[in-house]
Amino acid sequence: MSKLLIVGSIAFDAIETPFGKTDKILGGAAPYIALSASNFNISSSIVSVVGEDFPLDYLSMLQEKNIDTSAVEIVKGGKTFFWSGRYHNDLNSRDTLDTQLNVLADFNPVVPDNYKDADIVMLGNLNPLVQLGVIEQLTTKPKLTILDTMNFWMEDAFLGDLLKVISKVDVITINDEEARQLSGEYSLVKAARAIEKMGPKYVVIKKGEHGALLFHKEQIFFAPALPLEEVFDPTGAGDTFAGGFSGYLTKTDDISFENMKKAIIHASNLASFCVEKFGTERMENLNRDEVQRRLQQFRELTQFEIELS
Ligand code: AMP
Repeated sequence: MSKLLIVGSIAFDAIETPFGKTDKILGGAAPYIALSASNFNISSSIVSVVGEDFPLDYLSMLQEKNIDTSAVEIVKGGKTFFWSGRYHNDLNSRDTLDTQLNVLADFNPVVPDNYKDADIVMLGNLNPLVQLGVIEQLTTKPKLTILDTMNFWMEDAFLGDLLKVISKVDVITINDEEARQLSGEYSLVKAARAIEKMGPKYVVIKKGEHGALLFHKEQIFFAPALPLEEVFDPTGAGDTFAGGFSGYLTKTDDISFENMKKAIIHASNLASFCVEKFGTERMENLNRDEVQRRLQQFRELTQFEIELS
């Protein structure tokens, strides 16, 4: 069975949306990625870190989904990474209210021996130095290395490290505002071209409720986001997207551009569930039938026949 190695933050999140507020729920890039990828029944393992304050029940929940958490370090006396954000009324934009790196600040990742030859490596949002540290421990070059990141790591203090890790990956997934910030280009087409020059052969630009774009040389593919009646909490949608994308590619073992298009659709499909409840709740309780039904909706939404004269 193909193996997916997942690296990313594990967090306590405190979220405010126009619909309510949560206090310290499970969050972070890694749980969202892993829960999403688990829909493809693959072997996956998370490399991350938490503090002693982290409830072990959360790790059990992930293990029950066949996600290996043995490489999640638990730091004695340490405090888990904390992030807090408030969404604006349109739910498309948010302000970060607080970021407390805590145990993430001194994290030295250790890739388990049985994942040093992972087929696909998904570097979720985390300090770029940690992402680099993971790449350096791999004994076999993965078929595909995918990087997700955010504006926090584009500040001067981290930008050099971020550019270094970007130069080493095959695919980058990034949201529209971050693509603009990283490239200095307003047009997303120009931004993608500029980012391709930094290293990745494939650039995925996520546009929230406006879908996602996949760029590779001269080719562009667009997938809409499913128009949802209700969006409750967009936190983790980007990570869930990354988990769906990497999970599908791991399952199918095919990294052609054509198959990446399908991966983008699966990614968008899974992300559409994530936003329906606070935090990871919806992704923890997702079943195969729901996923299949929504894929069908996706097909109906986007398929059309047109005659060219
Ligand atoms: P997304 O909504 O996909 O951008 O991901 C939100 C998740 O990213 C939250 O669960 C946060 O815990 C996590 N997060 C926020 N800031 C950071 C950061 N600087 N490093 C790593 N993870 C973060």
